[in-house]
Amino acid sequence: MIPFSKLERYEGNEALFDLVMMSIVSSYAGEPLHIHAEGLRGTGKTTIMRAARGILPNIKRIRSCVYNCDPARPHCPIHRDMSPDEIAQLGEEEIPMPFLEISHSAKIGTIAGSIDLARLTDCAHPEAQLLPGTIPQAHRGIIFIDEINRLADTSPEITDILLDVMGNKPGHLQIEEAGLPVVDIQVNVSVWAASNPDEDPGSLEEIRRQLSDRFDMVCYMGRPTSVDILAQMLKENSHTHKINRSKEMNDQADLSKNETYRQNIIKWAQNYQKADLPDFLRNYIARLYVKHNLESIRAIEAMQQGAVLYSTIKNRDQAIISDITHMIPQVLKHRVDGDTLIKIVNDTDARGSRDGILSFKNKKNNPKKTEEDNEYFTMTGRPLKDLGRNELINTEKTLAPKEV
Ligand SMILES: [Zn+2]
Repeated sequence: MIPFSKLERYEGNEALFDLVMMSIVSSYAGEPLHIHAEGLRGTGKTTIMRAARGILPNIKRIRSCVYNCDPARPHCPIHRDMSPDEIAQLGEEEIPMPFLEISHSAKIGTIAGSIDLARLTDCAHPEAQLLPGTIPQAHRGIIFIDEINRLADTSPEITDILLDVMGNKPGHLQIEEAGLPVVDIQVNVSVWAASNPDEDPGSLEEIRRQLSDRFDMVCYMGRPTSVDILAQMLKENSHTHKINRSKEMNDQADLSKNETYRQNIIKWAQNYQKADLPDFLRNYIARLYVKHNLESIRAIEAMQQGAVLYSTIKNRDQAIISDITHMIPQVLKHRVDGDTLIKIVNDTDARGSRDGILSFKNKKNNPKKTEEDNEYFTMTGRPLKDLGRNELINTEKTLAPKEV
C-alpha cells in the first residue's frame, strides 16, 4: 500500500484528505465523525481511506481489554464495575487506534459478537463468554466499509446495527446471543464508507435514506477532467510503477512523515477539545436551518462540528464563517435535493461578497482568494465587545439569511 504522504493530492480529492484528517482528529478527541466518499472507480477514495491507517496515533487501554477500555472511563462488561484501584492493578498498554473493515458480505455475529467457542469447549474451565465482534473491537477508532450501498441493500440487519452505532455520539450496540444475557455497550467509532452511486444497486440515499443521513459529511469525488491528473493516475496505476512503489514501501523517510502526521493529529485533537464555535456563527447555522427547511438536525450539528474541526486542522484558533460555508456542500449533498443545495450555496456566497466587516469571498474556484480573506480577518477581527453598536447590528444582519 502506498504511504499516506505519497498519495497524489489534487483539487478533486483534497476535500477527502481533509475529511479523513478531521475524522481522525475528532475520533482521537473522543467524538466520532462519520464520513462517506462517493465516486467512480479509480478516483482513489478507498486508497486514501485505507492509507490513513498508517498515520493513526496510539491510544491507551486497560491491558488486553478487547473492548479497548479507556483506563479512566472503563465501559465494557468486564471492567465497568471495577474500582479505580482494581483497574490500576490490571495495568495499561498502548495500541494503535483501531482501524477495522466490514465487508459488504459480513455476518452479524462477526461484526456484533458471538459466543466464544474456544472458552465454551475448554475442558478444564468450560465457560459461556462473549467474543466481541468488529464494531465493539473498533471502539475509539475507525470502521471502514467499502461498497456501503451494497451492504445496505443486502443486509438490513447489519444496517440496523449501524443505525444504532451511528445514531448518537457515542453510539451503542446490543449484542444478543442465544444462551447469554443481552449485552448493551457504548461504542465510540467513526464510520468511514465508500461507494459508487453509478453502479448497482445505486446511491445509498435511495437505498436507505436513514443510513445516508447518519453520515456527517459526504465527499463526492468527481470524474477527473484535467489531462495532467489523468496522466498522473495512469502512471500510478501502471505495472512498473506499482512494482517500484512496493520496493520503496516503508522506507525511513515515509515512517518519519507518518510520525509527523501523528504528532499533528495529537496536537489538533488537544486544540479541538478546547475549541468552540462563536455564538453568532451558531446563530448563523440555526438561521440556515430555519430558512431552508433543512429537516435534519444532524445536518446542522455536522456543520458545527465540521467548521470547528476544519479550522483546527488549518491551524486557526477559531472557526470563521468561511469554515461553515466550506462545509455546506459536504454536509447537505446527501440531505437536500440539488436545487436546494445550489440555492443555499449561492445564498451564502452572495452574502459573503457583500461589503462589511465580516466579508468573505468564498468563491469555490478561487481558493487563494479565500486564504487571503481569512488572513484579512485575523488581522482586523476584534472581539465583539469592542465593536460599536452599529457595527454589531450590521454584523448580525450581514450574516443572517433573509427571513422567509
Ligand atoms: Zn474493558
